[in-house]
Amino acid sequence: MPEETVPETMRQVLVRSLEDVTLDIVPVPEPGAGEVLLRTVVAGICGSDMHAAQGSHPFIDLPYRPGHEVVARVEAVGPGVTDLPIGQRVVIEPNLTCGRCAQCRAGRYNICRELRVFGCQTPGGMADRFVIAADRLHPLPDEVSDAAAALVEPLATPVHAVRKAGPLTGRTVAVLGAGPIGLLVLVAARRAGASRIVITDLLATKRERALRMGADAALPADDPDLVAAAHAALDGPADVVFDCVTRERSLAQAIDLVTKGGQIVVVGVGASGGTSVRMDLVQDREIRIEGALMYVGEDFRAALELIRSGAVDVADMVTATFPLDQADRAFAACGDPEQVKVLITVP
Ligand SMILES: [Zn+2]
Ligand SMILES: [Zn+2]
Repeated sequence: MPEETVPETMRQVLVRSLEDVTLDIVPVPEPGAGEVLLRTVVAGICGSDMHAAQGSHPFIDLPYRPGHEVVARVEAVGPGVTDLPIGQRVVIEPNLTCGRCAQCRAGRYNICRELRVFGCQTPGGMADRFVIAADRLHPLPDEVSDAAAALVEPLATPVHAVRKAGPLTGRTVAVLGAGPIGLLVLVAARRAGASRIVITDLLATKRERALRMGADAALPADDPDLVAAAHAALDGPADVVFDCVTRERSLAQAIDLVTKGGQIVVVGVGASGGTSVRMDLVQDREIRIEGALMYVGEDFRAALELIRSGAVDVADMVTATFPLDQADRAFAACGDPEQVKVLITVP
């Protein structure tokens, strides 16, 4: 292990609030058995990071040390790690699971009873370096750029959500919200065979981007005639609705957009404290409402393959990039609703 080349301290982003994002100087962690020390290449800021910085994420407490969408290079390995060469570029799968509960044993470790997320409930990869278990790393093929690789984690969640809807071939889809997750649900649903897809958003720029990325129609989310317009665009009610917003209005729209006997997949993080839902209509129309949380390895590998195949227009998705020492500016930029994906690079 080339420890002489690793300094003793490093920079790590510390978020106390959206207005108080600083670089903390902390000791460089040492990899234990089965663990790897990595140098961060690029880290994305997620919608959940914005919720957390605003103090409104139900499961992330402030202050915290973010970075769960991370591309990095192996710098050193701990005892027992034999299959990762120094310098190997990887993307991290940030779900940290117990491996013992019923969900883990059934392969559904995204809903592990003791689930923690790297960079949410543990210090993350928005730093010069970090340590994580070797089994959380997915090696990257050379042809995938750093920026494209940073979209693998954000795409894995939509891939998982789309898989929950079952085969989409020949079925119609509505996607509520054209932020990063909504746009990537659009991509994943199209690849899964959806025949027609409408997407909604408040912002015209996001609707235009969704059209460029293959939506058949993009409608204003606050249009009072949204349901009629969407049904016209889909030639009837949607077979599946993906709610990437998860607020009272979006869920009400989802219930009115979906066909009788259809399915609503809830992808967006809901407001803490809950959201009212018309359960009378859910019962009367036999609507199935299902949550989707993160992903498992199968989804992650499928997302990597989608990125590798060029399914995502990376240049259109990544709207700003800042170096690590401007992390405060990167978080501030994310407060602008016109931004889609903001990346932090570690030069
Ligand atoms: Zn994320
Ligand atoms: Zn578990």
